Amino acid sequence: MSECLFCRIARKEIPAAVVYEDDTLLAFQDIFPQAPVHLLIIPKAHCEGLADLTPEIAAAAARIPQVAAKLAVDHGVQASGWRLLSNNGADAGQTVFHLHFHLLGGKPLGGKLCL
Ligand code: 5GP
Ligand code: ZN
Repeated sequence: MSECLFCRIARKEIPAAVVYEDDTLLAFQDIFPQAPVHLLIIPKAHCEGLADLTPEIAAAAARIPQVAAKLAVDHGVQASGWRLLSNNGADAGQTVFHLHFHLLGGKPLGGKLCL
């Protein structure tokens, strides 16, 4: 079994505050939120990042913008604005090597290189 942190969250071996789940995607609260709304959206199947997508995971990940838009409404930031981003690799600051998208909102987020 994978020791990957987000694989373990997807398998419910590690608790997380889940806000959305379907067959192939999971969204949960970031444990160290950088904004009033800070959610992580992941494919349940493991891949390290966007360079490692299989066709199956790409099909699941293609739905992430739609899920993010629904979550933005659910969490009250659709009107004020929100950001969806994925860090890939060292220079981007990726720390968990299971593909994930951050959904951030609830305050002015600053320039595109700042959280
Ligand atoms: P990255 O830096 O790889 O783009 O983002 C990883 C994110 O995962 C960080 O924002 C970090 O706070 C979050 N994170 C790390 N460990 C955990 C955890 O155990 N549970 C949850 N919910 N989030 C985590
Ligand atoms: Zn994983």
